[in-house]
Amino acid sequence: MAQKGLRRRGRVTTRSRSLFREARRILPGGVNSPVRAFQAVGGIPPFMSRGRGSRLFDADGNSYLDYVCSWGPLILGHAHPRIVRALRDAVGRGTTFGAPTELETRLAELIRRAMPSIQMIRFVNSGTEATMSALRLARAFTRREKILKFSGGYHGHSDGLLARAGSGLATLTIPDSAGIPAAFARQTLIAPYNDLSAVDDLFARHPGEIAAVIVEPVAANMGVIPPRPGFLQGLRKICDDGGSLLIFDEVITGFRVHFGGAQALYGVRPDLTCLGKIIGGGLPVGAYGGSKKIMKNAAPLGDVYQAGTLSGNPLVMTAGIETLTILNDDDLYARLDESAATIENAAERAAIRNGIGLRISRVGSLFTLFFREGPVGDYAEAGQSDAGRYALFFHFLLEQGVYFPPSQFEAACISAAHSASDLRETIAALEAAFGRLARLSAGAVAEPRH
Ligand SMILES: *Cc1c(COP(=O)(O)O)cnc(C)c1O
Repeated sequence: MAQKGLRRRGRVTTRSRSLFREARRILPGGVNSPVRAFQAVGGIPPFMSRGRGSRLFDADGNSYLDYVCSWGPLILGHAHPRIVRALRDAVGRGTTFGAPTELETRLAELIRRAMPSIQMIRFVNSGTEATMSALRLARAFTRREKILKFSGGYHGHSDGLLARAGSGLATLTIPDSAGIPAAFARQTLIAPYNDLSAVDDLFARHPGEIAAVIVEPVAANMGVIPPRPGFLQGLRKICDDGGSLLIFDEVITGFRVHFGGAQALYGVRPDLTCLGKIIGGGLPVGAYGGSKKIMKNAAPLGDVYQAGTLSGNPLVMTAGIETLTILNDDDLYARLDESAATIENAAERAAIRNGIGLRISRVGSLFTLFFREGPVGDYAEAGQSDAGRYALFFHFLLEQGVYFPPSQFEAACISAAHSASDLRETIAALEAAFGRLARLSAGAVAEPRH
Protein backbone atom coordinates (compact mmCIF):
# COMPACT_ATOMS: atom_id res chain seq x y z
CA MET A 1 0.00 0.00 0.00
CA ALA A 2 2.87 2.37 0.73
CA GLN A 3 4.63 1.96 -2.61
CA LYS A 4 6.46 5.02 -3.79
CA GLY A 5 4.38 7.75 -5.24
CA LEU A 6 5.31 7.87 -8.89
CA ARG A 7 3.40 4.66 -9.49
CA ARG A 8 0.31 6.81 -9.27
CA ARG A 9 1.18 9.10 -12.15
CA GLY A 10 -1.64 8.75 -14.62
CA ARG A 11 -3.95 7.51 -11.88
CA VAL A 12 -7.44 6.54 -12.94
CA THR A 13 -10.10 9.17 -12.20
CA THR A 14 -13.01 7.83 -14.24
CA ARG A 15 -15.40 7.32 -11.36
CA SER A 16 -14.63 10.68 -9.69
CA ARG A 17 -15.19 12.42 -13.01
CA SER A 18 -18.58 10.87 -13.48
CA LEU A 19 -19.58 11.47 -9.85
CA PHE A 20 -18.54 15.12 -10.16
CA ARG A 21 -20.59 15.48 -13.34
CA GLU A 22 -23.65 14.03 -11.57
CA ALA A 23 -23.11 16.14 -8.47
CA ARG A 24 -22.90 19.37 -10.48
CA ARG A 25 -26.37 18.74 -11.84
CA ILE A 26 -27.92 18.93 -8.39
CA LEU A 27 -25.46 20.67 -6.03
CA PRO A 28 -24.13 24.16 -6.89
CA GLY A 29 -20.62 23.48 -8.16
CA GLY A 30 -21.06 19.84 -7.21
CA VAL A 31 -20.13 20.51 -3.58
CA ASN A 32 -21.45 21.67 -0.23
CA SER A 33 -18.51 23.93 0.57
CA PRO A 34 -16.87 25.92 -2.25
CA VAL A 35 -13.17 25.09 -1.86
CA ARG A 36 -13.90 21.38 -2.37
CA ALA A 37 -14.70 22.11 -6.03
CA PHE A 38 -10.97 22.70 -6.80
CA GLN A 39 -11.64 26.05 -8.53
CA ALA A 40 -8.41 27.50 -7.14
CA VAL A 41 -6.28 24.70 -8.59
CA GLY A 42 -8.39 23.41 -11.49
CA GLY A 43 -9.12 19.79 -12.28
CA ILE A 44 -11.50 17.23 -10.86
CA PRO A 45 -11.77 16.72 -7.11
CA PRO A 46 -11.37 13.06 -6.19
CA PHE A 47 -14.59 11.81 -4.61
CA MET A 48 -13.63 10.11 -1.38
CA SER A 49 -15.07 6.85 -0.24
CA ARG A 50 -13.23 6.19 3.02
CA GLY A 51 -10.41 7.25 5.27
CA ARG A 52 -8.13 5.38 7.64
CA GLY A 53 -5.37 6.90 9.75
CA SER A 54 -3.32 9.26 7.57
CA ARG A 55 -4.93 8.09 4.32
CA LEU A 56 -7.93 8.86 2.17
CA PHE A 57 -9.26 6.46 -0.49
CA ASP A 58 -11.21 7.73 -3.48
CA ALA A 59 -13.98 6.20 -5.54
CA ASP A 60 -11.47 4.98 -8.17
CA GLY A 61 -9.43 3.15 -5.55
CA ASN A 62 -6.56 5.69 -5.39
CA SER A 63 -5.11 6.41 -1.97
CA TYR A 64 -3.78 9.72 -0.69
CA LEU A 65 -1.72 10.79 2.29
CA ASP A 66 -4.04 13.40 3.72
CA TYR A 67 -2.68 16.84 4.67
CA VAL A 68 -6.10 18.49 4.72
CA CYS A 69 -7.46 16.44 7.64
CA SER A 70 -10.99 17.66 6.86
CA TRP A 71 -9.65 21.24 7.21
CA GLY A 72 -8.46 20.70 10.77
CA PRO A 73 -10.72 18.45 12.83
CA LEU A 74 -8.92 15.15 12.24
CA ILE A 75 -5.91 15.65 14.48
CA LEU A 76 -6.01 11.92 15.27
CA GLY A 77 -6.46 10.89 11.63
CA HIS A 78 -9.38 9.11 9.99
CA ALA A 79 -11.51 6.50 11.75
CA HIS A 80 -9.49 6.40 14.95
CA PRO A 81 -10.43 3.03 16.53
CA ARG A 82 -11.36 4.54 19.91
CA ILE A 83 -13.59 7.19 18.36
CA VAL A 84 -15.23 4.66 16.05
CA ARG A 85 -15.94 2.34 18.99
CA ALA A 86 -17.34 5.13 21.16
CA LEU A 87 -19.57 6.34 18.32
CA ARG A 88 -20.84 2.81 17.61
CA ASP A 89 -21.83 2.46 21.25
CA ALA A 90 -23.42 5.90 21.33
CA VAL A 91 -25.42 5.58 18.12
CA GLY A 92 -27.26 2.54 19.48
CA ARG A 93 -28.50 4.59 22.40
CA GLY A 94 -30.18 7.14 20.11
CA THR A 95 -28.81 9.95 18.00
CA THR A 96 -30.51 13.00 19.52
CA PHE A 97 -32.82 13.65 22.43
CA GLY A 98 -33.57 17.38 22.37
CA ALA A 99 -32.87 17.26 26.09
CA PRO A 100 -29.71 17.69 28.15
CA THR A 101 -27.22 14.85 28.54
CA GLU A 102 -24.25 14.30 30.84
CA LEU A 103 -21.97 14.24 27.78
CA GLU A 104 -22.31 18.01 27.27
CA THR A 105 -21.08 18.75 30.78
CA ARG A 106 -18.20 16.31 30.39
CA LEU A 107 -16.94 17.84 27.15
CA ALA A 108 -17.39 21.34 28.59
CA GLU A 109 -15.26 20.37 31.59
CA LEU A 110 -12.50 18.95 29.40
CA ILE A 111 -12.41 22.23 27.45
CA ARG A 112 -12.49 24.39 30.58
CA ARG A 113 -9.55 22.49 32.06
CA ALA A 114 -7.54 23.14 28.88
CA MET A 115 -8.59 26.80 28.53
CA PRO A 116 -8.97 28.58 31.86
CA SER A 117 -10.34 31.73 30.15
CA ILE A 118 -13.50 29.66 29.56
CA GLN A 119 -15.63 29.42 32.69
CA MET A 120 -18.86 28.71 30.82
CA ILE A 121 -19.42 27.45 27.32
CA ARG A 122 -22.28 26.94 24.87
CA PHE A 123 -22.13 24.28 22.15
CA VAL A 124 -23.44 25.01 18.67
CA ASN A 125 -23.21 23.19 15.32
CA SER A 126 -20.47 25.01 13.40
CA GLY A 127 -17.68 27.52 13.75
CA THR A 128 -19.84 29.98 11.83
CA GLU A 129 -22.51 29.79 14.52
CA ALA A 130 -19.92 30.12 17.26
CA THR A 131 -18.48 33.42 15.99
CA MET A 132 -21.88 34.81 15.05
CA SER A 133 -23.22 34.09 18.54
CA ALA A 134 -20.11 35.32 20.32
CA LEU A 135 -20.45 38.65 18.52
CA ARG A 136 -24.10 38.95 19.45
CA LEU A 137 -23.15 38.36 23.06
CA ALA A 138 -20.31 40.90 22.87
CA ARG A 139 -22.62 43.52 21.37
CA ALA A 140 -25.21 42.95 24.07
CA PHE A 141 -22.63 42.96 26.85
CA THR A 142 -20.92 46.18 25.74
CA ARG A 143 -24.05 47.83 24.31
CA ARG A 144 -22.01 48.74 21.24
CA GLU A 145 -22.53 47.78 17.60
CA LYS A 146 -19.26 47.84 15.69
CA ILE A 147 -16.80 45.01 15.50
CA LEU A 148 -13.24 44.99 14.30
CA LYS A 149 -11.77 42.13 12.29
CA PHE A 150 -8.62 41.66 10.25
CA SER A 151 -8.42 41.39 6.48
CA GLY A 152 -7.90 37.77 5.51
CA GLY A 153 -9.31 36.62 8.84
CA TYR A 154 -12.02 34.02 8.29
CA HIS A 155 -14.68 33.61 10.92
CA GLY A 156 -17.31 31.63 9.08
CA HIS A 157 -19.88 32.96 6.64
CA SER A 158 -22.30 35.04 8.72
CA ASP A 159 -23.22 38.39 7.17
CA GLY A 160 -21.15 40.83 9.20
CA LEU A 161 -18.04 38.67 9.03
CA LEU A 162 -17.80 38.28 5.27
CA ALA A 163 -16.56 41.82 4.93
CA ARG A 164 -13.10 43.23 4.46
CA ALA A 165 -11.80 46.66 3.56
CA GLY A 166 -12.38 48.08 0.11
CA SER A 167 -9.97 50.76 -1.01
CA GLY A 168 -10.21 52.87 2.12
CA LEU A 169 -10.53 51.73 5.70
CA ALA A 170 -13.59 51.69 7.92
CA THR A 171 -15.95 53.99 6.06
CA LEU A 172 -15.53 52.14 2.80
CA THR A 173 -16.04 48.62 4.14
CA ILE A 174 -17.71 46.60 1.43
CA PRO A 175 -19.00 43.05 1.70
CA ASP A 176 -17.00 40.14 0.23
CA SER A 177 -20.14 38.38 -0.90
CA ALA A 178 -23.32 39.36 -2.70
CA GLY A 179 -26.43 39.34 -0.58
CA ILE A 180 -25.03 41.17 2.42
CA PRO A 181 -26.79 44.44 3.27
CA ALA A 182 -24.34 47.34 3.16
CA ALA A 183 -25.68 48.42 6.55
CA PHE A 184 -24.37 45.17 8.09
CA ALA A 185 -20.98 45.50 6.46
CA ARG A 186 -20.67 49.06 7.76
CA GLN A 187 -20.68 47.69 11.30
CA THR A 188 -17.47 45.80 10.53
CA LEU A 189 -14.16 47.65 10.70
CA ILE A 190 -11.11 46.11 9.08
CA ALA A 191 -7.42 46.32 9.91
CA PRO A 192 -4.45 44.49 8.38
CA TYR A 193 -3.35 41.46 10.42
CA ASN A 194 -0.33 42.09 12.65
CA ASP A 195 -0.83 45.87 12.42
CA LEU A 196 -1.45 47.31 15.89
CA SER A 197 -1.24 50.92 14.78
CA ALA A 198 -4.11 50.39 12.33
CA VAL A 199 -6.15 49.00 15.24
CA ASP A 200 -5.21 52.00 17.34
CA ASP A 201 -6.34 54.32 14.55
CA LEU A 202 -9.72 52.62 14.26
CA PHE A 203 -10.25 52.84 18.01
CA ALA A 204 -9.36 56.53 17.89
CA ARG A 205 -11.83 57.12 15.05
CA HIS A 206 -14.65 55.18 16.72
CA PRO A 207 -14.37 55.88 20.43
CA GLY A 208 -16.88 53.94 22.53
CA GLU A 209 -18.35 52.23 19.45
CA ILE A 210 -16.38 48.99 19.09
CA ALA A 211 -17.98 46.03 20.88
CA ALA A 212 -15.25 43.55 20.12
CA VAL A 213 -12.09 42.73 18.24
CA ILE A 214 -12.30 39.28 16.69
CA VAL A 215 -9.05 37.67 15.62
CA GLU A 216 -7.58 34.36 14.59
CA PRO A 217 -4.71 34.28 17.11
CA VAL A 218 -2.76 32.38 14.46
CA ALA A 219 -4.20 33.32 11.10
CA ALA A 220 -4.85 30.10 9.21
CA ASN A 221 -7.31 31.02 6.48
CA MET A 222 -5.02 33.16 4.30
CA GLY A 223 -2.39 30.48 4.59
CA VAL A 224 -0.81 30.22 8.02
CA ILE A 225 0.45 33.55 9.39
CA PRO A 226 1.66 33.63 12.99
CA PRO A 227 1.06 36.70 15.14
CA ARG A 228 4.13 38.94 15.38
CA PRO A 229 5.60 39.10 18.90
CA GLY A 230 3.48 41.50 20.94
CA PHE A 231 0.55 41.59 18.49
CA LEU A 232 -1.91 39.61 20.62
CA GLN A 233 -0.71 41.30 23.82
CA GLY A 234 -1.20 44.66 22.11
CA LEU A 235 -4.75 43.75 21.13
CA ARG A 236 -5.44 42.74 24.74
CA LYS A 237 -4.30 46.16 25.92
CA ILE A 238 -6.17 48.14 23.26
CA CYS A 239 -9.38 46.26 24.10
CA ASP A 240 -8.92 46.82 27.83
CA ASP A 241 -8.24 50.53 27.31
CA GLY A 242 -11.15 50.93 24.90
CA GLY A 243 -13.71 48.91 26.88
CA SER A 244 -14.04 46.31 24.08
CA LEU A 245 -14.03 42.55 24.31
CA LEU A 246 -11.24 40.50 22.77
CA ILE A 247 -12.56 37.43 20.95
CA PHE A 248 -10.14 34.70 19.89
CA ASP A 249 -11.49 32.66 17.04
CA GLU A 250 -9.76 29.41 17.90
CA VAL A 251 -11.96 27.28 15.67
CA ILE A 252 -8.88 25.97 13.89
CA THR A 253 -6.12 26.66 16.47
CA GLY A 254 -7.96 25.30 19.53
CA PHE A 255 -6.40 21.94 20.55
CA ARG A 256 -4.30 22.18 17.37
CA VAL A 257 -1.34 24.48 18.07
CA HIS A 258 -1.34 23.50 21.76
CA PHE A 259 -3.74 21.58 24.00
CA GLY A 260 -4.74 24.95 25.47
CA GLY A 261 -4.97 26.61 22.05
CA ALA A 262 -3.14 29.72 20.86
CA GLN A 263 -4.11 31.47 24.10
CA ALA A 264 -1.91 29.02 26.02
CA LEU A 265 0.84 29.11 23.40
CA TYR A 266 1.13 32.92 23.49
CA GLY A 267 -0.07 33.54 27.05
CA VAL A 268 -2.89 35.96 26.19
CA ARG A 269 -6.32 35.61 27.79
CA PRO A 270 -9.27 36.52 25.56
CA ASP A 271 -12.70 37.50 26.90
CA LEU A 272 -14.48 35.07 24.58
CA THR A 273 -13.19 32.04 22.69
CA CYS A 274 -14.79 30.44 19.63
CA LEU A 275 -14.12 26.78 19.05
CA GLY A 276 -15.06 24.14 16.46
CA LYS A 277 -13.30 21.53 14.35
CA ILE A 278 -11.18 19.38 16.73
CA ILE A 279 -13.63 19.55 19.66
CA GLY A 280 -16.18 17.65 17.53
CA GLY A 281 -13.78 14.83 16.70
CA GLY A 282 -14.82 14.95 13.02
CA LEU A 283 -18.54 15.61 13.54
CA PRO A 284 -20.22 19.02 13.01
CA VAL A 285 -19.58 21.32 15.96
CA GLY A 286 -18.89 24.79 17.28
CA ALA A 287 -18.76 26.39 20.72
CA TYR A 288 -18.24 29.75 22.34
CA GLY A 289 -17.21 30.42 25.88
CA GLY A 290 -15.70 32.87 28.32
CA SER A 291 -16.11 34.32 31.76
CA LYS A 292 -19.31 33.71 33.71
CA LYS A 293 -19.93 37.43 33.78
CA ILE A 294 -20.26 37.51 30.00
CA MET A 295 -21.70 34.04 29.36
CA LYS A 296 -24.53 34.45 31.83
CA ASN A 297 -26.08 36.90 29.36
CA ALA A 298 -26.88 33.99 27.03
CA ALA A 299 -30.45 32.67 27.15
CA PRO A 300 -31.99 31.22 29.26
CA LEU A 301 -29.94 33.02 31.96
CA GLY A 302 -29.83 36.30 30.09
CA ASP A 303 -31.50 38.13 27.24
CA VAL A 304 -29.17 37.19 24.36
CA TYR A 305 -31.10 34.60 22.40
CA GLN A 306 -29.34 31.69 20.76
CA ALA A 307 -30.56 28.11 20.33
CA GLY A 308 -30.05 24.91 18.31
CA THR A 309 -32.17 21.82 17.65
CA LEU A 310 -29.10 19.59 17.47
CA SER A 311 -26.69 21.62 19.64
CA GLY A 312 -24.74 19.47 22.08
CA ASN A 313 -25.68 16.41 20.04
CA PRO A 314 -24.72 13.18 21.86
CA LEU A 315 -22.73 11.74 18.93
CA VAL A 316 -20.76 14.96 18.51
CA MET A 317 -20.10 15.19 22.26
CA THR A 318 -18.96 11.55 22.32
CA ALA A 319 -16.47 12.07 19.48
CA GLY A 320 -15.26 15.29 21.12
CA ILE A 321 -14.77 13.73 24.55
CA GLU A 322 -12.86 10.80 23.07
CA THR A 323 -10.64 13.12 20.97
CA LEU A 324 -9.77 15.51 23.79
CA THR A 325 -9.18 12.62 26.20
CA ILE A 326 -6.71 10.98 23.83
CA LEU A 327 -4.99 14.31 23.12
CA ASN A 328 -4.68 15.02 26.82
CA ASP A 329 -3.48 11.55 27.86
CA ASP A 330 -1.03 10.95 25.06
CA ASP A 331 0.49 14.43 24.89
CA LEU A 332 0.87 14.21 21.14
CA TYR A 333 1.88 17.82 20.49
CA ALA A 334 5.66 17.35 20.59
CA ARG A 335 5.38 14.59 18.01
CA LEU A 336 3.02 16.58 15.78
CA ASP A 337 5.44 19.48 15.88
CA GLU A 338 8.35 17.21 15.00
CA SER A 339 6.48 15.65 12.06
CA ALA A 340 5.58 19.06 10.67
CA ALA A 341 9.16 20.30 11.14
CA THR A 342 10.41 17.29 9.17
CA ILE A 343 8.15 18.22 6.26
CA GLU A 344 9.06 21.90 6.56
CA ASN A 345 12.81 21.25 6.50
CA ALA A 346 12.61 18.82 3.61
CA ALA A 347 10.41 21.17 1.57
CA GLU A 348 12.75 24.07 2.25
CA ARG A 349 15.82 22.10 1.15
CA ALA A 350 14.08 20.79 -1.97
CA ALA A 351 12.90 24.29 -2.92
CA ILE A 352 16.38 25.75 -2.53
CA ARG A 353 17.97 22.90 -4.46
CA ASN A 354 15.54 23.52 -7.32
CA GLY A 355 15.72 27.31 -7.21
CA ILE A 356 12.04 27.68 -6.30
CA GLY A 357 11.15 30.79 -4.26
CA LEU A 358 9.35 29.48 -1.19
CA ARG A 359 8.41 30.84 2.22
CA ILE A 360 7.20 28.25 4.70
CA SER A 361 5.04 29.45 7.52
CA ARG A 362 4.32 27.03 10.35
CA VAL A 363 2.88 26.98 13.85
CA GLY A 364 3.02 23.46 15.28
CA SER A 365 1.25 21.07 12.93
CA LEU A 366 -0.40 23.85 10.87
CA PHE A 367 1.61 25.10 7.92
CA THR A 368 1.61 26.72 4.49
CA LEU A 369 4.10 26.60 1.66
CA PHE A 370 3.83 30.10 0.18
CA PHE A 371 5.26 30.34 -3.34
CA ARG A 372 6.92 33.66 -2.64
CA GLU A 373 10.36 34.88 -1.57
CA GLY A 374 9.47 37.69 0.80
CA PRO A 375 7.95 37.63 4.27
CA VAL A 376 4.26 36.84 4.77
CA GLY A 377 2.85 38.83 7.66
CA ASP A 378 -0.58 39.84 6.42
CA TYR A 379 -3.22 39.29 3.76
CA ALA A 380 -1.62 41.61 1.20
CA GLU A 381 1.71 39.79 1.42
CA ALA A 382 0.02 36.38 1.32
CA GLY A 383 -1.77 37.56 -1.83
CA GLN A 384 1.56 38.09 -3.56
CA SER A 385 2.25 34.36 -3.57
CA ASP A 386 2.25 32.63 -6.93
CA ALA A 387 -1.07 30.81 -6.70
CA GLY A 388 -0.64 29.43 -10.22
CA ARG A 389 2.60 27.77 -9.23
CA TYR A 390 0.94 26.41 -6.11
CA ALA A 391 -1.78 24.87 -8.32
CA LEU A 392 0.83 23.02 -10.38
CA PHE A 393 2.61 21.89 -7.23
CA PHE A 394 -0.69 20.71 -5.78
CA HIS A 395 -1.45 18.56 -8.83
CA PHE A 396 2.10 17.14 -8.94
CA LEU A 397 1.57 15.99 -5.35
CA LEU A 398 -1.94 14.71 -5.98
CA GLU A 399 -0.70 12.54 -8.86
CA GLN A 400 1.74 10.97 -6.43
CA GLY A 401 -0.92 10.27 -3.83
CA VAL A 402 -0.32 13.25 -1.55
CA TYR A 403 -3.36 15.41 -0.84
CA PHE A 404 -2.47 19.01 0.05
CA PRO A 405 -5.08 21.79 0.43
CA PRO A 406 -6.51 22.69 -2.98
CA SER A 407 -5.67 26.37 -2.49
CA GLN A 408 -2.56 28.41 -1.73
CA PHE A 409 -4.49 30.13 1.04
CA GLU A 410 -5.64 27.16 3.10
CA ALA A 411 -3.53 25.66 5.87
CA ALA A 412 -2.08 22.17 5.56
CA CYS A 413 -2.06 20.04 8.68
CA ILE A 414 -0.62 16.85 10.02
CA SER A 415 -2.33 14.27 12.19
CA ALA A 416 -0.99 12.00 14.87
CA ALA A 417 -1.64 9.14 12.46
CA HIS A 418 1.07 10.32 10.04
CA SER A 419 3.90 7.81 10.51
CA ALA A 420 7.62 8.16 9.81
CA SER A 421 7.19 6.19 6.60
CA ASP A 422 4.26 8.44 5.58
CA LEU A 423 6.56 11.42 6.03
CA ARG A 424 9.29 9.79 3.95
CA GLU A 425 6.80 9.08 1.18
CA THR A 426 5.60 12.69 1.35
CA ILE A 427 9.12 14.06 1.18
CA ALA A 428 9.92 11.96 -1.89
CA ALA A 429 6.77 13.35 -3.52
CA LEU A 430 7.66 16.93 -2.53
CA GLU A 431 11.14 16.54 -4.01
CA ALA A 432 9.75 15.20 -7.26
CA ALA A 433 7.17 18.00 -7.40
CA PHE A 434 9.77 20.75 -6.89
CA GLY A 435 11.95 19.08 -9.53
CA ARG A 436 9.09 19.17 -12.03
CA LEU A 437 8.36 22.82 -11.19
CA ALA A 438 12.01 23.71 -11.77
CA ARG A 439 12.08 21.89 -15.12
CA LEU A 440 8.88 23.67 -16.16
CA SER A 441 10.33 27.09 -15.30
CA ALA A 442 13.52 26.27 -17.20
CA GLY A 443 11.38 25.22 -20.17
CA ALA A 444 9.37 28.40 -19.91
CA VAL A 445 12.53 30.48 -20.17
CA ALA A 446 13.83 28.53 -23.16
CA GLU A 447 10.54 28.56 -25.00
CA PRO A 448 8.16 31.35 -24.03
CA ARG A 449 4.58 30.38 -24.63
CA HIS A 450 3.35 33.43 -26.53
C1 LIG B 1 -13.23 26.76 9.94
C2 LIG B 1 -13.25 28.07 10.60
C3 LIG B 1 -14.46 28.73 10.90
C4 LIG B 1 -15.80 28.24 10.43
O1 LIG B 1 -16.17 27.03 10.97
P1 LIG B 1 -17.33 26.20 10.21
O2 LIG B 1 -17.55 25.01 11.12
O3 LIG B 1 -16.79 25.86 8.88
O4 LIG B 1 -18.52 27.08 10.14
C5 LIG B 1 -14.40 29.89 11.64
N1 LIG B 1 -13.22 30.39 12.03
C6 LIG B 1 -12.05 29.80 11.75
C7 LIG B 1 -10.78 30.41 12.24
C8 LIG B 1 -12.03 28.63 11.01
O5 LIG B 1 -10.85 28.07 10.70
